[in-house]
Amino acid sequence: MAKSKSANARFSRGNRVAKQAAHRAVKEQLIMAGKVLVAEGQDDFTRGHISFRLPDNPNLFFMKAHSIGLDEITMQNILTIDLDGNVVAGSARRHSEVYIHSEIFKARPDVNCVIHTHPTYSIALSATGRTLKCYSQPGALFYDGLGTYTDTINLIRTHAMGAGVARALGQGRAVLLKNHGVVVTGATIAEAVIGTIMVENGARVQLLVEAAGDPAPEFSRADIEKLKADITQPEQFTINFDYLVRRVKRRR
Ligand SMILES: [Zn+2]
Repeated sequence: MAKSKSANARFSRGNRVAKQAAHRAVKEQLIMAGKVLVAEGQDDFTRGHISFRLPDNPNLFFMKAHSIGLDEITMQNILTIDLDGNVVAGSARRHSEVYIHSEIFKARPDVNCVIHTHPTYSIALSATGRTLKCYSQPGALFYDGLGTYTDTINLIRTHAMGAGVARALGQGRAVLLKNHGVVVTGATIAEAVIGTIMVENGARVQLLVEAAGDPAPEFSRADIEKLKADITQPEQFTINFDYLVRRVKRRR
């Protein structure tokens, strides 16, 4: 009996150590994701946030804290938050727009990572009231997958507003928040980070095309969908995210 008790204790200690290692790995990725986003011009003072579900508990997520830049995330200041937006671990200040994350996690079990930023060209495109076209390859990533949230320019500070953003997202990959910013999702941190950069790249090309005037028609749906299938391979997100992480580390 005593023997089996100590075997149990060893097993649960082993579980705890494995869980802590998994949490640490996610937090390390969040830290690097924040640095990559800033290196890619996605920062707007301390605004913008990133979150990721706990690998062992889909009802909780890690999230960047308020009052720091995306490139200032550390092991110590990452918060653990539940799907109602309550902080369950961590002492840093919580972003009031937490409901963007909690409501999307509630509505989309397939989404593990949510990013919200204020990138210039995406905001400019959202202000035109037009959606993203496939005038460049990044546009294909969001073909039939980009919602628009038009209720307000204000911060998403309530459950109801967060639910509105989740509705605008639907089954898509991302949402343009009109005159405010973007919300981009992913199954992985790599997918959400690369998606955030690509929606901005696509918006920048589109605004150049539209400023030049008289855009030629897009390619056919079948042609665009073929490219979309290629660039949504999970490996594509990982390869490109890993490259951006290496580049950030080289520049330090
Ligand atoms: Zn915002």
